[in-house]
Amino acid sequence: MRLRKFLASTAIVVLATALLPGAANAYVFTGRYWCGNPPNAAKFNVQFLSGVATQPPPSTSPNRAAFVNAMSAWHSTEVTFVAVSSSPLRVDSVFNLTATWDGLTTYNSGSSCLGANVTSVINRKYTDGYSALTRQGVAGHELGHAIGLGHSSVNPAMMTPYTSTRNAQGANTPRADDIAGAKARY
Ligand SMILES: [Zn+2]
Repeated sequence: MRLRKFLASTAIVVLATALLPGAANAYVFTGRYWCGNPPNAAKFNVQFLSGVATQPPPSTSPNRAAFVNAMSAWHSTEVTFVAVSSSPLRVDSVFNLTATWDGLTTYNSGSSCLGANVTSVINRKYTDGYSALTRQGVAGHELGHAIGLGHSSVNPAMMTPYTSTRNAQGANTPRADDIAGAKARY
C-alpha cells in the first residue's frame, strides 16, 4: 500500500519535531500555536473555503462532511471548532493529482504565534476513495496540525502520520494522546 504522508505546512517543522529525543512516545508540538487562546478555553473559528463551502458544493458534500464531523469529534475533547464566514484558520478540499499527500496543513507565518492564514486541505485524489470515517480522520488530523500538534508515534493517535496506520489503530477521531496534546497546548 502506498504510504500517504501527511505533511504539515512546513515539512521541516513537523519532521524535525518528531525526531526530537523524548518526543517519540507522546504527542508533539509543531512549535506554532494560536497564542490568543486562553488556557482551557480553546475555541477556534474555521472558514470553509470553496471546496467545502455550503454552496457549492451542496452541504451533503462528503468533503464538507469530513471537516464538519472532524470538528465535532474534536469538540468532544474541549477543543471547539466553530464554522464562521471569515477566519485565519481555513479548510478546503483540493484535487491535486501530483501530490503524494491526502491531507496538508500550511502555516503562512514564520512566527510561533499563529494568526495569519493557516489552511488545512484534504486531497480528493485520495480521499474520494476513502470511507467517510477515513476521510474524517484525515480532516481531523489536519485540524490537529492547524492548532499546533505535530506527529505522534503513540498507538493509538489520530496524529499518527499515515492514513493506513490511523485506520489500523482505529484512530480516526481524537484519542487520549491527541486530547492530552491539545489540552497541554491550550
Ligand atoms: Zn500530519
